[in-house]
Amino acid sequence: MRKLASIQTVNAVESIPNADVIEKLRVLGWWVVSKKGEHRPGDKLVYCEIDALLPERPDFEFLRPSSFKPAHDDLPAGFRIKTVKLRGQVSQGICFPLSILPEGAPTEEGADVTELLGVKKWEPPVPVGMGGKVKGGFPGFLPKTDETRVQVLEAALQRHRGKTFYVTEKLDGTSFTAFLRQGEFGICSRNLWMDEADESNVLARVAKGLKLEEKLRAARERSGHDLAIQAEVIGPGIQKNKYGLKDVALRVFNVLNVDTYRLLDHPVKLAILAEMGLEAVPQLGTIALNHTVDELVAFSEGVSVLNSQVQREGVVLRPLVEEYDEDIGDRLSFKAINPKFLLKYDE
Ligand code: ATP
Ligand code: MN
Repeated sequence: MRKLASIQTVNAVESIPNADVIEKLRVLGWWVVSKKGEHRPGDKLVYCEIDALLPERPDFEFLRPSSFKPAHDDLPAGFRIKTVKLRGQVSQGICFPLSILPEGAPTEEGADVTELLGVKKWEPPVPVGMGGKVKGGFPGFLPKTDETRVQVLEAALQRHRGKTFYVTEKLDGTSFTAFLRQGEFGICSRNLWMDEADESNVLARVAKGLKLEEKLRAARERSGHDLAIQAEVIGPGIQKNKYGLKDVALRVFNVLNVDTYRLLDHPVKLAILAEMGLEAVPQLGTIALNHTVDELVAFSEGVSVLNSQVQREGVVLRPLVEEYDEDIGDRLSFKAINPKFLLKYDE
């Protein structure tokens, strides 16, 4: 889980060219613009990440003109923190003095104060077409898809220095899983097991159009294993179709052996996808990891392979052979999001 609000230490304070009333703070691997003179290196503070939805309370009222969001779906009204650019400096997140915490709150570095402060994760309203009949919660026999932001992984970047990572373009669509399990075919959205027969849902239409059930059954014949594919679905009706596609498409980023609950290593995954006639997310090559957070953020900038007129959302980095990472608390895999994409689309 992301710590949307946590206790952190100011690692550095730097000035911003041509700015007299603001400066930038380094908190974790993020740069945050703040009023000049308010914080010094070594100070502890409450740091709220981008996508935090702060509750309506007097301390946060100053955010109303820029950041107010009315209640929707399951979310209350509040103030949404997003990526902004001030005097040419990208600023991600917001800092508050420890005094905004209730009495008795933890103040040790890293403490998660998200719930204590009533901070929620901002989610955009559920798009139309993502409805449809639900079969249940996300199945426990499949991993949920998620990527950790590189800004919270400074230590991990050091530990994995020198390792080869493959890089893919992070696509901005909607997460999709199709699986075969003990003879049963199923499909899932990011958080739900959906009814594959209800074609009012775009994911059910994609599954049918691409004959995913037949493909997974044929793959089972070949490999002797039940497989699941996890992919991003992109195109008309999804996330404003940023890439301007004519038809809905699917780009795979995971193949799971459902019998063993193991993600297949990168080369094996690509070979299986080729056999199935499915496309992977855009492959941007490999790098030997030798980068700081800022270098990876710079590396994430660029246009999309799918449409050179649009900024890509970012990149995802993974080792060629799957491994566990203690900081991520899950497989080693992380994302660097293109700040230009956030500034353009993160409405
Ligand atoms: P956050 O965790 O930052 O709040 P989030 O949980 O909404 O954001 P995303 O930013 O959407 O997650 O990142 C994870 C998702 O990215 C995955 O669930 C997957 O659907 C999607 N994705 C798109 N392209 C790729 C890719 N190339 N590799 C892996 N995942 C990808
Ligand atoms: Mn996430």
